[in-house]
Amino acid sequence: MQTYCDFDGTIAKIDVTDAVLERFAAPEWRDVEAAWEAGDITARQCMSAQIALIQAPLDEIDSFLDTVEIDPGFRSFVGWCAENAIPLSVVSDGVDRFIHRVLSNHGLGHLKIIANRLCIEEAPAGFQYRLEAPFSQSACLAQSGVCKCSVVTSGTTRIYVGDGRSDYCVSPQADLLFAKHKLATYCTLNAIPFVPYTTFSDVRAEMAARLTDPGVAIAAE
Ligand SMILES: [Mg+2]
Ligand SMILES: [Zn+2]
Repeated sequence: MQTYCDFDGTIAKIDVTDAVLERFAAPEWRDVEAAWEAGDITARQCMSAQIALIQAPLDEIDSFLDTVEIDPGFRSFVGWCAENAIPLSVVSDGVDRFIHRVLSNHGLGHLKIIANRLCIEEAPAGFQYRLEAPFSQSACLAQSGVCKCSVVTSGTTRIYVGDGRSDYCVSPQADLLFAKHKLATYCTLNAIPFVPYTTFSDVRAEMAARLTDPGVAIAAE
């Protein structure tokens, strides 16, 4: 068994990349977003163009990241997974460095993160940011920086927790899918089975029930 959790809107209460762009990117980031919404560029192209528009020193970005709140049940969910020897990875189409900063602030800096990689260059004119996408997958229609359907592969029982568009491509291949918001709507429209949840406390309770009740057990390893 292996648990995978989306980050933005799932672990973090907000979309951290969007919040960073709103505060620190040149306003053209919204035009890039519109081009993606219109289908003119891929999600991956969108993210890398937007990240290149960030104009702020790293310490200012970090100070903002230090205000980001996470799901109130996530920490104890991580503890519960550890007690039950269930590996947990964070799978995000966001930015590795931002995610690590937020998780570290909540005592969770040890978690494995699969995300886009932020490269920082300190130029005379200031910081320059560039995004690398080592987990992209050209064969997937999602065309994300991190293609979750090609990353969520290990573990014979895959549990996935998500909330949004970056989770669409992986949703049919989870053995147990927890979904809320846009992801829940998508799954309903596409007849993909899921368990609705509000916080990680709900996820934990549902998983605990399935582990102890053979009648509703998740397929054994
Ligand atoms: Mg999300
Ligand atoms: Zn995919």
